[in-house]
Amino acid sequence: RAYNFNAGPAALPLEVLEQAQSEFVEFRGSGMSIMEMSHRGAIYEGVHNETKQLLTELLGIPEGYQILFLQGGASTQFAMIPMNFLQGRTGSYVMTGSWADKAVKEAKNFGSTHIAASSEANQFRSIPSLDTFNVPEDSAYLHITSNETIEGTQFQQYPDAGSVPLIADLSSDIMSRPLDVSQFAMIYAGAQKNLGPSGVTVVIVRDDFITEVPKTVPTMFRYETHVKNNSLYNTPPAYSIYMVNLVLQWIKGKGGLAGIERQNREKSGLIYQAIDASGGFYNGFAEKDSRSMMNITFRLQNEELEKKFVKASEAEGFVGLKGHRSVGGLRASAYNAVPYESCKALAQFMAEFQRTNG
Ligand code: PLP
Repeated sequence: RAYNFNAGPAALPLEVLEQAQSEFVEFRGSGMSIMEMSHRGAIYEGVHNETKQLLTELLGIPEGYQILFLQGGASTQFAMIPMNFLQGRTGSYVMTGSWADKAVKEAKNFGSTHIAASSEANQFRSIPSLDTFNVPEDSAYLHITSNETIEGTQFQQYPDAGSVPLIADLSSDIMSRPLDVSQFAMIYAGAQKNLGPSGVTVVIVRDDFITEVPKTVPTMFRYETHVKNNSLYNTPPAYSIYMVNLVLQWIKGKGGLAGIERQNREKSGLIYQAIDASGGFYNGFAEKDSRSMMNITFRLQNEELEKKFVKASEAEGFVGLKGHRSVGGLRASAYNAVPYESCKALAQFMAEFQRTNG
């Protein structure tokens, strides 16, 4: 298999793909594929509820939270959040980069926003220091982007917004390290990085945060609708949820989130080490104290050399190393399912490329 460093959709564990393959046509004695069965039948409902149970167990979700499986990606959450929670108030946002920017822009369509902190002045190379946060007490919520997939920065610690409910977009780092869910009123993540294939968005929201919304908010865009119906108001993305189930079982087998974090530190450490040991041949984009374990962004001296790097890497079986067009350079996305061996191979490739081009 390729050394897959795609930013998303991203690598899935080989064991998960193989299990899915073995049950693809004939799901556990049912005489059909899971894609062909009723979402209201006992077999699918078993998978659906077990997936919630696995999330509860692995994330240690306390009582008083709802787990929802929604559609429309994390991008739909950018709109659903202000639709449900602003209601004439102001939403505070931390501007950390490209995805935070999209969340703010969407909220502006529904009401007023406030930037509680920003790292725009240094091209989003860092997460703003928590002591610079300015969160008005009457904010409807404080929204953060836990991991900026494009810039390659990640919160190392989450802010305490006092009485202001904290919402986090965890699309690109959910399940990559332990999380204290009780710090948040709501977290959400599109599945296609660390949870499974695209098509389902996991939302975990505190019961008392969900309020009644005006009738002008469409039924499908109200959290309340999905809470009341166990995410079965309409046909859910059943196959994606089943795949999330398998990925969560796989995480459990790796020692849960503590085990996964240990591996992720080692994996990203190999690549950051290759950057830091290069004497300036490779330059990390993110500031060291804000570096992401998931998306490792770096540049070479010039674009020509960067193009050469991408081409040479592809010839060696590496996929997805070209950086996002807005940042340029290179990006290695080392999500949970990217094996240690792929990261080791990349670190070796980087050293070899430097030797022949330095
Ligand atoms: N938020 C972050 C941090 C992301 O990385 C992405 C996608 O890459 C999104 C939101 C958008 O997710 P979706 O494509 O599921 O709408």
